[in-house]
Amino acid sequence: MIRNIRSVRGMKDYLPNSTVIWQQIEIILKNILRNYGYKEIRLPIIEKISLYERAIGNVTDLVEKEMYTFIDRNGDSLTLRPEGTAGCIRSGIEHGFLYHQEQRLWYMGPMFRHERPQKGRYRQFNQMGIEVFGLTGPNIDVELIMMNIRWWKALGIENHVRLEINSLGSIEACSNYRNVLIKFLEKNEHLLDEQCKHRMYTNPMRILDSKNPKVKELMQNAPKIIDYLDNDSNIHFEKFCKLLNELDVKYDINPYLVRGLDYYNRTVIEWIADSLGAQSTICGGGRYDNLVMQLAGYHTPAIGFALGIERLISLVESVNPVFKTTNYASIDVYIINNNLHNHIAAIILAESIRDAMPELIFVTDFRGGSLKKQTIRAVKLNASLILILDEYLANSNRAVIKDLRTGTQQIIDRIDIVNTLYLLLK
Ligand code: ATP
Ligand code: MG
Repeated sequence: MIRNIRSVRGMKDYLPNSTVIWQQIEIILKNILRNYGYKEIRLPIIEKISLYERAIGNVTDLVEKEMYTFIDRNGDSLTLRPEGTAGCIRSGIEHGFLYHQEQRLWYMGPMFRHERPQKGRYRQFNQMGIEVFGLTGPNIDVELIMMNIRWWKALGIENHVRLEINSLGSIEACSNYRNVLIKFLEKNEHLLDEQCKHRMYTNPMRILDSKNPKVKELMQNAPKIIDYLDNDSNIHFEKFCKLLNELDVKYDINPYLVRGLDYYNRTVIEWIADSLGAQSTICGGGRYDNLVMQLAGYHTPAIGFALGIERLISLVESVNPVFKTTNYASIDVYIINNNLHNHIAAIILAESIRDAMPELIFVTDFRGGSLKKQTIRAVKLNASLILILDEYLANSNRAVIKDLRTGTQQIIDRIDIVNTLYLLLK
C-alpha cells in the first residue's frame, strides 16, 4: 500500500518551507562564482564504476564501502556519483576541454554515499563543487579561499567558520611519508583499533584523522607530513601561507588534515564550523595535480573543493536568523473577489499587475467563499496586502486595497491600482 512506502533511509525530501532558504543561498553562491569568472557545468548523476575506482582509489572508505553501484539492463556496472571531480575530469577528457587549457568550473547537485545517516550526514546530499584546471598555484589556491570568504560574508557566517590547511607534498614525497608512517604504526600496532590495523598498509594516511580518541592521542606523536615535503611543495606551501598572511586570512595548519580521497596532493583545505557538532566540515578540497594524468595520460594541474549544502544551510539557519524570517516566500498581494461570474476580468487585471511588477508575488484566490474566508486565507499565507476586486468587477472600476500589516484600507480607482500597490510595497 502506498501509505507504507517511505523515502529511502538517508534520503530526504526538501519541502517548500526549506527550499526558500536553499534558493536564496544558491543565488548568493552562484553570483559570487560568476563574479570570479566561473562557469557552470552539468554532469550526469551516474558514471561507470571504473571511473571512481581509478580516480578515487580502491582502498578509500568511499570506494570500499560507500558507493551505490548497480548493474543496469545491459550488464554495465554503474555508480551513483559519490562526488563530482571524477565525472568532471571524465567530461573534460571526452570533450577536450582540459588539454592545455584553463578552466574555472562549478556544478551543483546530489551526491550519493551509503553512510550511516545522522545529523549532517545523509545518503543523498548536495554539493556545490568548484574545479579549476590548468593553473599550478599557489595564487589560485589563495583566490579560492578569498572566494570562500566572500561567500561566508554574504551569508553572514564569516565569524562561525575557520580554515584549516595542510600540504601533502608531491606523490613521491607522500609515498616516502607513507613508509615512515607505516614504520611508526608498526611500532605502535598494539594501540590501534581493528579498522586502523586494516588500513595500516593499504591507506595509512587515513589513520591520521581517525576519530578514535586513543588513536588520536597516539597520532599526536606520529611523524608529520609537513616535515617530509619535497622542496617544490615546500616552496608552494610557504608562498600559499605568505599570501594568506598578507591578505589577513586567519588559518590553522593542521598536520593531520589528509582528506578522504586518494587524489589530493600539495594544498589541502577544510572549512570547519564547530557549532555543527560531529559533522562540522562544510567545505573541503585541495590540489589534485596528477589526477588528469592518471585518467587522461596528459598533465593538467588542478585544484577544487566541494561545499556541503545541507551543512551550510544548517549553519546559516542557526547563526543568521534573517534567512529564517525572510519574507522571500510570503505573498505580496493576495487577490480576492466574491464575484464568481467575472473571472476573466480578475485574471486580466492580475496579469497586468504582474507585468508591471515582475519581481513581486501575486496570488489569486480561486477557492472563493465569503470575503472574510478569503481574508483569513490571505493572513494564513502571510500576505502583505489584499486586493479586493468586488466593486471593480461589478464595473465600478474601483478596487479596495487592504494593508494586512497595518490594518488600513483604501478605495482606489482602476488606473491607480498598480501605482498604489507599488507605493505600499516598495
Ligand atoms: P566527512 O569527513 O564529513 O565524511 P568527506 O571528507 O567525506 O566529509 P568530501 O568528500 O570532501 O567530504 O565532501 C565535501 C563536503 O561535502 C563535506 O565537507 C561535507 O560538507 C559534505 N558531505 C560529505 N559527505 C556528506 C554526507 N554524507 N552528507 C552530507 N554532507 C556530506
Ligand atoms: Mg566522508
